[in-house]
Amino acid sequence: MTQEGSTRETREFQAETKQLLDLMVHSIYTNQEIFLRELISNASDAIDKIRFESLTNHELLEGNSEFEIFILPDEKTGTLTISDNGIGMTYEEVIKNIGTIAQSGTKAFLEKMKEKEANPDNELIGQFGVGFYSAFMVAEKVTLLTRAPGKTKGIKWESNGDGTYTIEEVDKDKRGTTIILSLKEEYRSPEKAQESFLSQYKLENLIKKYSDYIRYPIKMNITIEEQPKDADGKPVEDAPLVQRVEVRTLNSMAPLWTKNKQDITQDEYHHFYKNLFHDWEDPLEVIHSKTEGTVEYTSLLFIPSRAPFNFYNRDYTAGIQLYSKHVFIMDNCQDLLPEYLRFVRGLVDSPDFSLNISRELLQQSRQLKLIGKNLEKSVLKTLSNLLSKDRPKYEKFWKEFGKSLKIGVYADPQNADKLKDLLLFPSSHTADGSTSFDEYVSRMPEHQKVIYYATGKDRASVERLPQMELLREKEIEVLYLLDPVDEFVVEALRDYKEKKFQSVSRGDLNLENVDAAEVEKKTEEIYKENEALVKAIKEQLSDKIADVKISNRLKSSAVCLVSDDTGISLSMEHILSDMNNEMFKARRILEVNPNHAVFTALKALHETDPASETFKDYCDLLYTQALLIEGILPEDPISFANKIAGLMAQKEKMD
Ligand code: ADP
Repeated sequence: MTQEGSTRETREFQAETKQLLDLMVHSIYTNQEIFLRELISNASDAIDKIRFESLTNHELLEGNSEFEIFILPDEKTGTLTISDNGIGMTYEEVIKNIGTIAQSGTKAFLEKMKEKEANPDNELIGQFGVGFYSAFMVAEKVTLLTRAPGKTKGIKWESNGDGTYTIEEVDKDKRGTTIILSLKEEYRSPEKAQESFLSQYKLENLIKKYSDYIRYPIKMNITIEEQPKDADGKPVEDAPLVQRVEVRTLNSMAPLWTKNKQDITQDEYHHFYKNLFHDWEDPLEVIHSKTEGTVEYTSLLFIPSRAPFNFYNRDYTAGIQLYSKHVFIMDNCQDLLPEYLRFVRGLVDSPDFSLNISRELLQQSRQLKLIGKNLEKSVLKTLSNLLSKDRPKYEKFWKEFGKSLKIGVYADPQNADKLKDLLLFPSSHTADGSTSFDEYVSRMPEHQKVIYYATGKDRASVERLPQMELLREKEIEVLYLLDPVDEFVVEALRDYKEKKFQSVSRGDLNLENVDAAEVEKKTEEIYKENEALVKAIKEQLSDKIADVKISNRLKSSAVCLVSDDTGISLSMEHILSDMNNEMFKARRILEVNPNHAVFTALKALHETDPASETFKDYCDLLYTQALLIEGILPEDPISFANKIAGLMAQKEKMD
C-alpha cells in the first residue's frame, strides 16, 4: 500500500493480447520503425479528443492549451519518451484500452497471422496497424504514465511484454500521457547509430516520413554544435565547438490542400495520403478541388488502392475529415458522402463550417449537404473517366470496391441511374475480364431483345448449368452474376436502355432469334403427347415443386430447376435463407428434357405401371438431380444415395 492508499496491482493480459505481444516481442518484422508513427498517432488522437471536448467544457484544459507532442531520446537511460497533453486515461480506461484488445482489427490481424503461420510481414502490419503494442517491437519495457483532466492522481502502467503488467496510482502534474520506452539493446546502442532510435537524425527523419502532417507540433530538443562567437558575433576560429539545445518542431503540419494544384507533385499527394490515413500503398486516384460560390470549400479526396480488411464489416468507420480554415474539426464525418462511396478518404476544409459545431447540428447543415452533393458528383465523374480512359485501373478499383457500388444500387433506387454505367460483370464473351452493360448492349444482335444473365458461385459452375447450353450454342452473350448481391442489382435496375434483364433460369427464355411461336407450338405438342406423364411427375413431387414443364432450354441434361417470374429466384432464396430469412420461397418449376433418354425411360415406366415404386423413385431422383445442379443439397441425402445404389445394383443384375 502506498501512502495514498493505492496499491500496485499485477494483472494478466487477456489471452489474445498475450499472443499479440508475443508476436511483437519476437517479431522479425523488418519495419519496426512504425512504432513511432503509431504512438504519435495515438497522441494526436488524444489531443483531438481533449480539444473537441474543451469546446463545450473549457475547464478541462486546466490552463494548458498549447497542444503538443514531445519526443525525448535519452542516451543515458537508453529510453525514448513520447509525451502528449491530450485527454489522458483514467484507471479504468487504462485497463480497458491497454490491457485488452477491443479493436476487431487487431483480432483480425491475429487470425490472419495464424492463417499464414508466418511472421508478420510489412503488408500485414501496415494494413492492420497494431497500435500501442507495436512499442514492444523495440522496447524491452514500456512504462505509461497518464492523467485524465480533472483527476488528482495519475496512473502508471508498466510491462515487459511478458504475460503481465502492473498498474498503480501515481502523482502526475501534467494532463496527458507519457510513454517511456526502455529500448532493446540493439535499438539504443550508440555504436549502431543507424539502428538506434535515440539518434536525433533518425528520429527527425522518421517523423518527416510518417508523421509530417500530424496536426499538432511534434517537438524535440535538438542539440546544435557550433563555433563560439565573439562579442561582434563573428565565429571564433580554432575554438572548441560549443553545444546549444534548441526546441524544434519536426513536422511541417502543412495543410497541403491549401497549395495550388499545379504546385503539388504526385509524390506529395501520395505522401500526404499515406501519412494522414495510415495506408502503406499509394492511393489509386486523387481528387483535389477548390470551389467558390454559394459555399466555399476545398476538398482533397482519395480513392484507396485496396479495401481495408474490414471494409465490408459493420465496424469499419468511413468518413471524411472536416476542417475550418485549416483547423481540424472532426474525423469520420459520414454525412458528407453517400454510403456507397464510403471507401473514399479525404478531407473538406471550409470557412463556412463552424469550429464548435456538434455532430447533430452539422448533419442538418445546409452547406454540408451542398458540399456533399458536389463531392458525390465529382467522385462519380472521376470513376466514369477512369472506366473510359484507364480500364485496367478501373478494374482494379472495381475488384476492391465494386461491391459497394452494387449495394448502392439496390439499397436505394435513386442511385441506380447514377451507378448503372459504372457496374462491371464477367460474361460469357469476356474470357477473364468483365463487361459493362453498355458494352453488352452494343454487342447485342438486333433480334436479341433482352440481356441474359446466369447466377452461380463461380464461372465454371455457371458454365456447367444445363440452362447455358442452348444459349452457348446460339452464341448469345450471358452475364455471369457470381456475387450474391448481383441478382438483387439487376432486379433493382429491371432494365438497361430499355432491354430487360432475363435470367436463364427463370420464366420464358425469350429467344427471339429462334422462332418463338414455332418453339412454343412444338413444346405444346410434346406436352399434349405426354400430358399424363407430366401430370404424374407433378403429383409425385407436389410437396416440393409448383409445376413440371416440358423444357425448351435443355440440350444434353435431363432436367433443370427454374423459377417463374412471379416470385423470387432460386439463388435469391438461397441468399435469403443464408440470412435466416425463410419467408420467401421461389416457385420451383422442374423442367424435363423430352429429348433425353431418361425421359423415354420414365415414359416407359409410367406406361407399364404409373403406381410402381420405381416410377416414384425415378421422379424423386430426377428432382434431386435438379437440386444438385443448382447447388442445393437434397433434404434427405441418405435416401438419395440408397436409391442410386439400388439402381446401380439392378443394372449390375441386368448386365
Ligand atoms: P487504437 O489507437 O488503434 O485504438 P491502440 O492499441 O494504439 O489502438 O490504443 C488503444 C486505445 O488506448 C486507444 O483507442 C486510446 O483509447 C488509448 N490510448 C492509446 N494511446 C493513448 C494516448 N496517448 N492518450 C490517451 N489514450 C490513449
